[in-house]
Amino acid sequence: MEHVAFQALFEHSSIGIIISNQDGIIERSNPFAAKIFGYGSNELIGQYVEILIPAQLREKHIIYRKKYNDNPQPRSMGSSLNLMAVKKDGSQFPVEVSLSFFESGGKRRIVSFVNDITERKYSDDQLKKLTEELESKVHERTKELSDTLWELNTTNKGLQDEMEQRKKAEKQMLVSLEKEKELNELKSRFVSMASHEFRTPLSGILTSASLISQYTKEEDFSKRIKHINTIKKLVRNLTNILNDFLSLDKLEQGNTISHASNFSIREVLDEIAEEFKEIAEKQPLKIQHHHKDLILHQDKQMFRNVIINLLSNAFKYSPDLGTVCLKTYPSEGNILIEISDQGIGIPVQEQKHIFERFFRANNATTISGTGLGLNIVKRYLDLMNGSIKFISRENEGTTFTVTLPLEKEK
Ligand code: ADP
Repeated sequence: MEHVAFQALFEHSSIGIIISNQDGIIERSNPFAAKIFGYGSNELIGQYVEILIPAQLREKHIIYRKKYNDNPQPRSMGSSLNLMAVKKDGSQFPVEVSLSFFESGGKRRIVSFVNDITERKYSDDQLKKLTEELESKVHERTKELSDTLWELNTTNKGLQDEMEQRKKAEKQMLVSLEKEKELNELKSRFVSMASHEFRTPLSGILTSASLISQYTKEEDFSKRIKHINTIKKLVRNLTNILNDFLSLDKLEQGNTISHASNFSIREVLDEIAEEFKEIAEKQPLKIQHHHKDLILHQDKQMFRNVIINLLSNAFKYSPDLGTVCLKTYPSEGNILIEISDQGIGIPVQEQKHIFERFFRANNATTISGTGLGLNIVKRYLDLMNGSIKFISRENEGTTFTVTLPLEKEK
């Protein structure tokens, strides 16, 4: 009964079963084995098992077979390999093989269970292909996505750049607009200042000239002289104004170069005081030097212009008989020159504008002036590595202090 059952199993199994002896000669094969290898029912018997193996692997198989004989165990054959088998017609197909053995009549038999896995392999391959395709698609999509993201970023960056550039352009436009506004304002300030400052002395000159033409008699001599002096003074004023314009223009163009030389502070200040002698008859000028004599190494003309400008203002903005003081004293390697008056002073709220071009304080408008002097003074002092500051109280007076570095002792 048992034998019959095994026989049925052998005959009807849907796995190929091949029994070979120790020499590798096939002794039995079931119908399924014959079928998958394309042989007739008993055609395999007596053949070497190698007949079922691709030609290029047969020699290797003989060696494997002998090794198995030495140490036989049930196991699968080359499970991790892609095993191929050969059909009678020479075509190859993938197989899965398990090996086993048994002893009978003192002889060992090897049983090979062979499975045609063409279908499974095909499915596996398809699955692998699909997986690969899917992977490559995912890869492609990821790349596309990252490309798009990159593009988006770039576009975003482009937009940001553009916006930044626009902002810059806007800023530049605002700056040039502001400059133009400032220039227009300067122009109008200049026109109103120039028309006033030129017209007044010019009409003064005209008046004096027409009066002179009327003073024809001998005894009018002194009157003629008086008016000639007036004309001279007014022309001097006009020349001063024009000189201020020229100085400012030169400064603006960056064409002002200082030519330093050594000179005695006392000497130059005494020279200047001499030039103010006439005015000083009405408004006393007090000079105090708190040092023996010191030598400055500066552009003498610039230095003179600074002091003359400040002294002129001190006199101009002081009442008759108001004393003007000029003090000099050394301090920490500098010479300080202080020019103070007891004049109209500068209103506190306007003090911050005092060095701006054309700026004139409200309380000064009835007194002639261009609003250029202090701006020029400040710029000259910048060129001379000096500085200027002031304190002022309206209706009490003003003190300007100029600081200039002293020539280092040699
Ligand atoms: P200007 O005297 O020709 O107007 P400045 O630039 O010399 O121009 O001075 C600018 C302004 O500063 C003057 O208009 C005046 O308002 C004020 N200022 C300058 N010096 C004095 C001073 N010593 N006392 C009062 N105000 C002064």
